[in-house]
Order: sequence, then C-alpha cells, then structure tokens
Amino acid sequence: MTSFLVRDAGTLDGGRRRDVAIVDGRITSTIPEDAELIHSGGWVIPGLVDAHSHLLASTRAVGTYVDTLSMSAASVERHISRVLAANRRHGIRAIRDVGDPSDGAVARHRARHHRIGVAFHAAGRFVNGGAMPVSDTELLDPTALLAQVREQAALGGGWVKIVADRYSAAGPPALTIRPDHLITMIETAHAAGARVAVHAVGRPAVRAALSAAADTLEHGTFVTPGDVAHMARQGTAWVPTVVAMRRTLSSRLTASEMRDAFRDLASNLRLAHEAGVAILTGSDGHLPAGAVGIEAVALSECGLEMAAAFDAAVDRACAVAVDLPGNVMVTECDPREDISTLLEPLLIVSSGRLIRPAIGRGSTVDAALAGLRLDLGTTGSS
Ligand SMILES: [Zn+2]
Repeated sequence: MTSFLVRDAGTLDGGRRRDVAIVDGRITSTIPEDAELIHSGGWVIPGLVDAHSHLLASTRAVGTYVDTLSMSAASVERHISRVLAANRRHGIRAIRDVGDPSDGAVARHRARHHRIGVAFHAAGRFVNGGAMPVSDTELLDPTALLAQVREQAALGGGWVKIVADRYSAAGPPALTIRPDHLITMIETAHAAGARVAVHAVGRPAVRAALSAAADTLEHGTFVTPGDVAHMARQGTAWVPTVVAMRRTLSSRLTASEMRDAFRDLASNLRLAHEAGVAILTGSDGHLPAGAVGIEAVALSECGLEMAAAFDAAVDRACAVAVDLPGNVMVTECDPREDISTLLEPLLIVSSGRLIRPAIGRGSTVDAALAGLRLDLGTTGSS
C-alpha cells in the first residue's frame, strides 16, 4: 500500500514536530523509503468519528428518511455506498449508523460496504419508533417490543436503537416505553450480543434510559446534574447532537426556553466532561455527509474546552464505533487549540489514497456553520 510522508508535522502525542508517515491508515515515525512527500507542516490527526449518523436520512427534509421499502436492493446499496463514500472523502474514519424507521437497511447491507473504507456499526430499524406516547394506564405489550429488539440485534450490526420518548402535540417529550419494559429490552439486547443506544430527550426518558443501563444516551438535552453523575458511575456515553437538537427544538420552544435549555445543557456538558463521561459527536442527519466536525465546533461553542470537543470527535467515539486502520487528516493547526481547523482539512489519506478536499466545500461548511452560529445565538446580526 502507498505510504505518505508529512515533514515537520504536529501530532497528538505531545512530542515535538517531526517527520511522520501514514502507512496503512496509521500514523508512524518509521518512514518507509518510498514514502511520497505530500505536505510540510500542519497537523496529522486521525479521521473523525460520527457516532450518531443516519446514512438513510433524506437530504430533502430534515428528520425524514429515504423510503427503502419502495426501492430495489441494488438502489438501496448504491445510496448507502454514495453516502459512505462522501463521508470517507471528508475524512470520517468510523461511523455508527443509529438506524431508520423502515427496515434497517444499513444493518442489512452492512457486510457489503466494508470495501468503501469507512468502518461502521449499524442499529437497524428503530425499536418502537412509530409508537405513540404511553399513558399511565396503557400497557404496551412487552412481548412485541422484545421481539423487535431480538430481530434488530440479530441483524448483527452491533447495536439496537430504542426510541424512548417523543414530542406530543403540546408539552414536553413523553415516554413511549414503560421504564420497566425498557430494562427488560436492554437486558435482552445485551444477551443477544448487541449494545443499546436510547433516544431520550426529556427527563423521564433520560432517567429510564440510565436506570436501564443504556450503553449510549442519544440527545439527552434535558439531563440533570444527577443524570450526569449516573452516566459517569455506570459508563453510559452521551451523544448530545447539539446541532440537531438546536434545530429540532427551536420550533417547539420559545426563545427564552431555548436559552434556558441550552444554558443548562452547556453546563451539564462541562460537568460530564469533568466527571469523565464519554461525550461523542453525532451529525444525526442534520449535517452534510462528512461534516461531523461542525458538531465538534458546536460542542466547543457550548463551552466544552476545544481539546474535549476534539476528543469527542476522535478518541472517545471509538468506544462505540468500529476503530479500524482508516482515514487520517492533515489539518492546518492543532484542533485542540483551534477546533474549526477540522472544517477545512488540507489533505485526507483514505485506504491508501490521497484526497485533496475539493475547493468550494468550504462554502457548504460555511453555510452550515453560519446557521449554527445563528442557532446558538453567537452572532449579533444576520
Ligand atoms: Zn438520530
């Protein structure tokens, strides 16, 4: 496989700048004789990880999905390949796909896509994704829920995604699954060899997810400091999807409710980082393929130190996504000092190939970032 040389590079190991080679997707100080010089200066870093991706998210409208049920198997595969390839071109090293509402096509087609060069896990079809909130008196049949869990775990993607709450027409997100059922569902998934990602936005679902020992908490926008301590104690990782939740909640909350919610979220994110909770970046179908670096920037705009925000996009995420020799990025500066450098990588090495990111990508990123800054209220005027 071709190896590449970067002279006088900064690396994450804290040592002085030095010559490094990228060989088989790994960064090494042992320089092969035939290594091709590709750059001098900059920083050589591992590719990013998207721990909450939806490869089947539709680009037409946020929150909608490609209708795989009406497509041929070949076109589903082509779609998945295209999105994976776009992620690879932008330096994404690993992906965890957290499912879709129709038939779990990513998990079903998973085995065919390892050649694309992005390692990924996939959760299959959302469990209970279409259900209405439960009322106090309503008893959902746990047998059906457990059957769904077993079916998705059996796809072999490594994860099951359970949707534990939903917004009703008015009011805060309401539980869609009884807390005692959630415990049995997660035990069942674990017994079947799968880990469990729980979608929980509101407090009741967050509490239920943590009491049931979910492996990862997805969103968790309204966590409390007590929940953060619970996550730290039991090792639940947190994928806050800040960009996605800003957009999702802005149509449901008033401006002052948004301010309060995201002020509390920011302080809980800092608390979680201090307590050692693994915080992970996820695009959640709200960012262009490969642009999960924007979520890292959003975490830092929420007040997480840049080093922690970068960690969320690179190291911690490997706990939930497949970590194989993969993409390496060359950035202009140290992302732990300037996180926005992730948005404009100079070079990407993927599967032994050198990719020079297309000029003009910046405009997409700039547009997404401008939207984010407005969302976060960090710019004065538009
Ligand atoms: Zn999602």
